[in-house]
Amino acid sequence: MAGTSPPKIAITHLAKSFGAHVVLKDVSLAVPAGGVVALIGPSGSGKSTLLRCINLLVVPDSGEVRVGADAFRFGPGTRLPGTKALARFRANTGMVFQHFNLFPHLTALQNVMEGPVTVQRLARPEAEARARALLAKVGLADKAEQYPSRLSGGQKQRVAIARALAMEPEVMLFDEATSALDPELVGEVLGVMRALAADGMTMVIVTHEIAFAREVADRVVFLRDGVVVEEGPARALIDAPQHPDTQAFLAHFH
Ligand code: ADP
Ligand code: MG
Repeated sequence: MAGTSPPKIAITHLAKSFGAHVVLKDVSLAVPAGGVVALIGPSGSGKSTLLRCINLLVVPDSGEVRVGADAFRFGPGTRLPGTKALARFRANTGMVFQHFNLFPHLTALQNVMEGPVTVQRLARPEAEARARALLAKVGLADKAEQYPSRLSGGQKQRVAIARALAMEPEVMLFDEATSALDPELVGEVLGVMRALAADGMTMVIVTHEIAFAREVADRVVFLRDGVVVEEGPARALIDAPQHPDTQAFLAHFH
């Protein structure tokens, strides 16, 4: 990556508490355009909260969140941007959750068309063409007319990825996208994520798939108790962690 181009995602001095519980403490994170960062750490370390702060599903107490050209600074008294700006910002920051959150009453195709039609006001024929192309891209061209209840977990998650991509986001965020899947279905979802990364998508991936993180991510960030304990190139960090806490955490996966 050229050192001169600004990062696609820049999180600076982010802090977040829920009541008296401090969940993120002065977290900074930068992802260059096309970069893939894997966020790892024990349960409760703040990974989901950090990811949710990046697309403002959770409002930080202080710090700055920048994605592409949109920057928001938080501090005492700051308010969220308006509903429209927020919807646009979130659409530009595609999020994929552990539990797919598809609309059960809509087909796969309708799920993928929904955002472009309602948020972006795209005409239906264009939204449908875009949705069908994305379903093909995630290997589900033949499932367009199926309702989520007729799809496997891996297929549902691939629809959820297509739905996020339909908004043509600049970045994609994955929160344990494969954790709820039966083991035999994990590979098809990781395959789609791997292809997206190879396509140049800027991504932050919360995952317990350490081998996948090592292979696909450029950098790995280890979070513990809301603090970035260690960060570095994926292979170096996973193969030879420096901090004792990172070493102890990664030892579970061997
Ligand atoms: P991780 O994803 O690493 O498991 P989370 O970000 O989900 O961690 O949670 C970090 C801590 O913040 C946990 O102790 C959790 O209970 C707490 N937390 C997360 N969301 C909320 C919330 N909306 N209200 C109160 N506490 C929360
Ligand atoms: Mg989590």
